[in-house]
Amino acid sequence: MKKWKSWDCHDCGVKEGELHRIGCDMEICPKCHKQLMTCGCFHNESELSFRIPYILILNICGLCGEQWPELFAVPKKEWKKYVIPVLQDKNLCRECFEQLKQIFPNGWKNVKNNYRQ
Ligand SMILES: [Zn+2]
Ligand SMILES: [Zn+2]
Ligand SMILES: [Zn+2]
Repeated sequence: MKKWKSWDCHDCGVKEGELHRIGCDMEICPKCHKQLMTCGCFHNESELSFRIPYILILNICGLCGEQWPELFAVPKKEWKKYVIPVLQDKNLCRECFEQLKQIFPNGWKNVKNNYRQ
């Protein structure tokens, strides 16, 4: 029994372990690991040397563990300023990001050491 919950591809309807139907927007590019439909690495599926079968990858917030955090756009500069490096390549929900901004009003790099007098 596998441990994770899964459901069929919401776009093309295949089951986990199967290849997506051509043109499915959930298919991952074998080269850059981004969305195949939009990354532009390949012009059509005959150029692919292999395809990545569908496995549902759960998207969770790296701080609170909320599932499927809503995507939101943050300028790269701001992301690096408020999000500590261990979390920078994770997903965060908007609330956690706002929380980090409050914890580090000047960015985490400018946190002062209070206990050394
Ligand atoms: Zn699909
Ligand atoms: Zn690509
Ligand atoms: Zn969160």
